[in-house]
Amino acid sequence: MIDATRRKEILKRGKPNPPWRGEPLLGGMYGEEEVEAAVSAIRIAMDVSVGFGFSAQHIVDFEKAFAQYVGTKHAVAINSAGPGLDMVMRYLRLEPDEEVIVPAINFMAAPLAVMGVGAKVVWGEINPRTFQLDPNDVEKRITPKTRAIFPVHMNGLSAPMDDFLELAKRHPHQKHGPLMVIGDCARACGGGYRGTKIGKRGDVNIFSLHTMKNITTLGEGGMITTDNDDIERYCRSVRFYGGETEDWGTSNVMTSVQAAVGSVQLKKLDGFIAARRKVAYRRHELLEGIPEITLPFEPDDCEHSFYLYTCLVCEEWAGEKRDTLVKMMNEEFGAGCVVANPPVYELCKLVREYTAGQSLPLSESIGKRLFCVSLHPIMTEEDNEYIAASLIECVERLRKM
Ligand SMILES: *Cc1c(COP(=O)(O)O)cnc(C)c1O
Repeated sequence: MIDATRRKEILKRGKPNPPWRGEPLLGGMYGEEEVEAAVSAIRIAMDVSVGFGFSAQHIVDFEKAFAQYVGTKHAVAINSAGPGLDMVMRYLRLEPDEEVIVPAINFMAAPLAVMGVGAKVVWGEINPRTFQLDPNDVEKRITPKTRAIFPVHMNGLSAPMDDFLELAKRHPHQKHGPLMVIGDCARACGGGYRGTKIGKRGDVNIFSLHTMKNITTLGEGGMITTDNDDIERYCRSVRFYGGETEDWGTSNVMTSVQAAVGSVQLKKLDGFIAARRKVAYRRHELLEGIPEITLPFEPDDCEHSFYLYTCLVCEEWAGEKRDTLVKMMNEEFGAGCVVANPPVYELCKLVREYTAGQSLPLSESIGKRLFCVSLHPIMTEEDNEYIAASLIECVERLRKM
């Protein structure tokens, strides 16, 4: 931990400029390579017989490189992760009384996708140390109506996919066989799990390439990875009005320019993750030993991508005191901090009404304790020190409040 004298020196330097947001945007990771790739893709598209078309070679190449990176047979490029989650839900052809288990501590996209097809959202509890959907809790919630387990690789760390796959096999649906295991990888591109990349394990996984995520295709984009030929064929068809399978679809395609830039970003991804991990591990050193704060945990079988640096305040500081801490960090120190995420049903009225009657005590209590301290691959040692010193300063003040 940084001692008091050193802390004063660090804080004297003043707020970082530009200030770090809680979830910083990725534009800062772009270089001339991305600019050149985009310009060159535009030049190719200027040929009237080529255009920006969805079968452009850049898209084929990006999909191939992505599949190879993750280690899956297929990758299907789409315009955003959300529509990918929707597609996979439609693929399941769920009946209104059929159930999908999703973590309560989550972004709203996964439960909204289940709602979108009119099926039942069943909330699962998380492991309070990893923030991932807890297989032991999931097992208790499986019923004859369960069709899928829908973990989210929260905040850059892998969900325990092998445990879910094992549950899926052991509790098959009577008609459809093993439950589907679907991963929302939006925040976890480039992370690892048991010697594989996140996005490999599970029946199908969906990535976001939005401007906030670990890599981005000009601000929006997504990718679906799977080893399953049928899922691949379905997603490829419905991403453009149903195509060859003649299923219901709309347009969810990526452009050739985005894909060209995506291929460049993908080559840099391991470097970005290494940089994130370096900032995170240095921060562990700067912060360790604060009794009121629990630092992020990385299980031995995972390589955390540190999309977010997720901490917990002690139980006594849950709620109001945590909120004060986050506010102080942002407003007084300019050290970005977010709460990502409380249970979805607490924030989103639509989801709350849809899942009325379900309450998840553990997720609710963790939702009052967690907070994420800004982290970004190009964050300097000075800014990392400043952010850590700010957090310690805030904790000291809160002790006296
Ligand atoms: C960002 C995010 C999404 C949505 O990604 P888009 O590409 O913006 O559609 C879905 N799930 C999680 C967990 C996210 O963080």
